[in-house]
Amino acid sequence: MIEVTNLKKEFDETTVLESIDFKVEKGEVVCLVGPSGSGKTTLLRCLNLLETPNGGTVTIGEKTLRFDGSSSVKKRDVNAMRQYSGMVFQGFHLFPHRTVIDNIIEAPMTVQGRSRAELIREGEELLGKVGMLEHKDKYPDALSGGQQQRAAIARALMMKPEVMLFDEPTSALDPQTVGEVLRVMESLAAEGLTMVVVTHEMNFARRVADKVLFMDGGYIVESGAPADVLENPKEARTREFLQLLE
Ligand code: ATP
Repeated sequence: MIEVTNLKKEFDETTVLESIDFKVEKGEVVCLVGPSGSGKTTLLRCLNLLETPNGGTVTIGEKTLRFDGSSSVKKRDVNAMRQYSGMVFQGFHLFPHRTVIDNIIEAPMTVQGRSRAELIREGEELLGKVGMLEHKDKYPDALSGGQQQRAAIARALMMKPEVMLFDEPTSALDPQTVGEVLRVMESLAAEGLTMVVVTHEMNFARRVADKVLFMDGGYIVESGAPADVLENPKEARTREFLQLLE
């Protein structure tokens, strides 16, 4: 489903990702964990080309792009790549002047030109799935952070992505609403959705991830099943990071 080889990313001559290799199989949940500044968000953003890698290859679904740092990526390739993935951000990014239902039907209506009535039916079904149907006619500022994030998840799902990319989806939430978002993500994982999740929620990673990638200093230092990487890490840097969290 996803394959990344020898990925490299620089910002202004500073290398922030180097020699990144990993695969995500269909239906797998992969969690990216590691200290602040280790490159987790940048790696996730390279997967849907919100950042352009300076080297390596990224394959998602049937699309492979090769980066050599010399040329910009064609708009056509960016769009082709993005059709495979949906992204959920730390800060929700809902349109403030639209209701929940209008937020979630916006992209398929404008990008795919589909009918409003049909999308409302699909949208209501998805809102039911994330426990947000009763809030469908509210505006974002009338919702808690957890409710906004659940609406943002439904919005990303409306495009029927093959893989969902989550960038610290609970970091901006009040502690009491973190659980409701993690439960929605867990139920999506149980349905077999392929997911890549940048997270500091180690219990979520332990329980839900098939694979954990531990990053530090722009490298994947260690990867494997959560029971190995989180409970029995081989690398000193992974152990230090996990000890700091205790
Ligand atoms: P956190 O857990 O704090 O979100 P992270 O592991 O997601 O951290 P990134 O946000 O990917 O880390 O950042 C990796 C490095 O790249 C950091 O040194 C950061 O300062 C740098 N960086 C990220 N975005 C940019 C940018 N747009 N321009 C320049 N440097 C950047």
